[in-house]
Amino acid sequence: MRKNIVAGNWKMNNDTKETKLLLKEIRKGVKKAALKNTKVIVAPSFVNLNTAVKVLGNSKIKVAAQNMNAAKNGAFTGEISADMLKSAGVKTVILGHSERRAYFGETDAILKEKVDSALEQKMKLIFCFGEELNDRKENKHFELVESQIKNALFHLPETSWKKIVLAYEPVWAIGTGETASPEQAQEMHAFIRKTVADKYTAEIADNVSILYGGSVKPTNAKEIFSKPDVDGGLIGGAALKAADFLAIIAAI
Ligand code: PEP
Repeated sequence: MRKNIVAGNWKMNNDTKETKLLLKEIRKGVKKAALKNTKVIVAPSFVNLNTAVKVLGNSKIKVAAQNMNAAKNGAFTGEISADMLKSAGVKTVILGHSERRAYFGETDAILKEKVDSALEQKMKLIFCFGEELNDRKENKHFELVESQIKNALFHLPETSWKKIVLAYEPVWAIGTGETASPEQAQEMHAFIRKTVADKYTAEIADNVSILYGGSVKPTNAKEIFSKPDVDGGLIGGAALKAADFLAIIAAI
């Protein structure tokens, strides 16, 4: 059975002191909530991953990195490898976030390499994709999403899918306050699940968690999460306030 997941992408926010404070509040709230079949993930910046692993200790909250390089090691100044993340106690990585695609030139081909490298290191991944507003206006959003998934993931063997979480994030809804309607989210999530089922098996498609991301807030989370193919959310802005993040977790 697939899991419900709420993951917080902190982006380039929070110094070490702020990281500790926020994590302690989240940890306390998650413990109190005594969740069943719901996984909570936080993704602080690289420099605070070690702190996060320590603060969260043996709590149920998992720590993810926001990115990684595909190479194992070498002359790649400023980059971080899957191996390094694992040695720091981080076993999950977010790949393909629209900000990485837009500002750092991450193409489907680059992401395919990153996916392979992460899986080689036995890491789990949250793979993000989604259309821009123009794609939707031109009715090309299904085609675009299908190609993003296909190009980076459809070369993988069936066994790899146990390690993959998908995150549909329409670019026009990220950090804009604009949210896809629950119906738009459900329509796309059902399409994604069918795309995976057509390429692999119904069982694999049924078991893969598909998160929605894009201006999820305590006020809209419940309605979005109530849709049958929406298995949780990847949360940006609202993950930076413990009360909001915890309310979104409660909504699931
Ligand atoms: C994100 O960055 O993945 C995201 C969904 O951001 P926000 O919730 O702020 O739109």
